[in-house]
Amino acid sequence: MKKKLVILGAGESGVGTALLAKQKGYDVFVSDGGAIKTQYRTELEENEIAFEENLHTAEKILCADEVMKSPGIADKNELVKQIRAKGISVISEIEFAYRYKGHSKIIAITGSNGKTTTTALTYHICKTAGADCAMVGNIGYSFAKQVAVQPRDLYVVEISSFQLDDIKTFQPDVAILTNITEDHLDRYDYKFENYINSKYRIAMNQHPEDVFIYNLDDAVTVKTINNYSIKSTLAPITMSKQLPQGAYLLNAKMHLKWKNEEMQMSIEDFAIKGKHNQYNSMAASLAASAIDIRKEKIREALQTFESLEHRMETVATIKNVEFINDSKATNINSTWFALESMNKPVILILGGVDKGNDYSLLTDMVKEKVKAIVCMGIEHRKIHEAFGDLVPLMVNTDNAKDAVQSAFHFASKGDVVLLSPACASFDLFKNYEDRGNQFKKAVKEL
Ligand code: ADP
Repeated sequence: MKKKLVILGAGESGVGTALLAKQKGYDVFVSDGGAIKTQYRTELEENEIAFEENLHTAEKILCADEVMKSPGIADKNELVKQIRAKGISVISEIEFAYRYKGHSKIIAITGSNGKTTTTALTYHICKTAGADCAMVGNIGYSFAKQVAVQPRDLYVVEISSFQLDDIKTFQPDVAILTNITEDHLDRYDYKFENYINSKYRIAMNQHPEDVFIYNLDDAVTVKTINNYSIKSTLAPITMSKQLPQGAYLLNAKMHLKWKNEEMQMSIEDFAIKGKHNQYNSMAASLAASAIDIRKEKIREALQTFESLEHRMETVATIKNVEFINDSKATNINSTWFALESMNKPVILILGGVDKGNDYSLLTDMVKEKVKAIVCMGIEHRKIHEAFGDLVPLMVNTDNAKDAVQSAFHFASKGDVVLLSPACASFDLFKNYEDRGNQFKKAVKEL
């Protein structure tokens, strides 16, 4: 008899799993409590995969041999509780795809910030070196869909903590943990510890011949790493000391040391700027070294990588005022790094839906670099309380056009207007992409 796989959620990872499962001979049923996007509904129909939307029918779900739960569905969900209570195995899409990846290699990237950038950069290095590889997880296909429609020798996989929560055997050849700062605590019973546990799951099935790349300058990582019995080979990155093996930054040069290979490269030559991107570049280079990519190729790729949209993206320079779109900065830590990388006076566009921000973490950066703040959001009180005494110029706005015009008004020649909101975007925008696009449009209309 065919094994019955029920898939909860019909987004990229749900539909990807459905395609792969159908191909592998499962009896597949997809259930989405909301409306399914047209593109995904069409894909299910074309592949003759049974599905329901806008409801979950318990009888059709609780008879499953196994359930794939999409990362957006929380464990608190009543149906998920019933599934677990019945003892049905619950897995994530990453786990399912892993079963069918064959002999291909995996570089897996997780962390609170820098996942997408590090994933894209790692992929770019592998591609530059001529590897038969795909980037999956957030940009491009889900891992499962890639395995179903276009298997590759190497997968560079971006993984959220939610995906890691439901892995069982997933074992990446190389794992990167970029950093850990508080995020998504609503999904982890408001316990930071639970979120941290989830991040380290990336290494839990690794063996000594696998590699675990982590950031020695990240306070939470350093404090917690010894609580986990990581069996893989440790490969640290740092800016604070020299290392016998790993990647470190000294006198504006990256030193990469892996096995017998050694390479140095000036950070001036990195295509992507800012301290956070130096960490991302070190992590990606080290991952590439760990799968034996030659240093010449790593060097070439670091020079030619094009930065991603909405992440420290230079939009335009108007009357000598530069505009930067960092709409993807949805928490304090990423805004801190954005400010850190600025070397001109900043007009900062800040605000949106605050997920419990502690703005005091930005005090020193704001004092040093910010000459005006434009609040953009429905709620501005906390921003005024945090910075009212530090920044002489502050104004409230509730749309991108007004925010850009106010910022331009405050700016003098040689300043930079930085959209790095430290907040989610749902009060005024559909998502961070919409916020970034509206910002760019408003800049172009100046
Ligand atoms: P993620 O996929 O983890 O959300 P992104 O690469 O999309 O990460 O970057 C999100 C935001 O975090 C951007 O605003 C970026 O400037 C900032 N950022 C990128 N890399 C790092 C890092 N290593 N540490 C802290 N912040 C970072």
